[in-house]
Amino acid sequence: MRRKVAAGNWKMFGIKADLTEITAIAAAADPAVDTLICPPATLITAAVPAAKGTVLIGGQDCHHLPQGAFTGETSAAMLVDAGATHVIVGHSERRRDHLESNEMVRAKAEAAIEAGLIALICVGESLEQREAGTTLVAIATELDGSLPNTSTAANTIIAYEPIWAVGTGHIPTPDQIAEVHGRIRAILRQRLGDEADGIRILYGGSVKASNAAEIFAAPDVDGALVGGASLKASDFAPIIAALAASA
Ligand code: PEP
Repeated sequence: MRRKVAAGNWKMFGIKADLTEITAIAAAADPAVDTLICPPATLITAAVPAAKGTVLIGGQDCHHLPQGAFTGETSAAMLVDAGATHVIVGHSERRRDHLESNEMVRAKAEAAIEAGLIALICVGESLEQREAGTTLVAIATELDGSLPNTSTAANTIIAYEPIWAVGTGHIPTPDQIAEVHGRIRAILRQRLGDEADGIRILYGGSVKASNAAEIFAAPDVDGALVGGASLKASDFAPIIAALAASA
């Protein structure tokens, strides 16, 4: 039985005044599911007490090395030191804006796991790949290239985030989500054997209160990675409730 996860990615939004939203999300958290918020790195230390022990706090990216002369970067060990338990790696915005390759994402995930974090690895096809009918091939290539051999059910979560659905208001059909999640599960089994059955696979891309229940009803969906609708407790709380109802 996989424990479901409602994860929020705040991206480059949020200042100290917004920590009240994390406290409000903590008040709405449901013990039946894990709730995770990944605020900007500047807020992680302050987010931990704001989360009142009921919301997990994560980073949005990490460097693949523990320390060094890398201006502007944050290591996995630094995220742990700040109080994070998780880190997102390979988000499509990082792959697009920072040209992160699968090899780089894999190195980051390995570093995160080595530091004791849970790596939340994102994969997803472009609109061109979806329209060309190559979605499953694209997902297989990204996942196989980005997944560490050290991944286990305890240290890795996968997020399927179609690039064309992130921040656009467009979402795949439940059948399309189920098809990709099934493929991801099969690849995880090929690589990791029985361990794969415990790895959570989240859907991400324009999840909202209005579509959450339908998405969570799809087979093999173990939760959601949510961007815009995780910034306000009033938007995120119904998503947590829909996930808990599906658990
Ligand atoms: C995301 O940033 O991972 C995401 C899914 O964003 P949104 O929910 O806003 O589409």
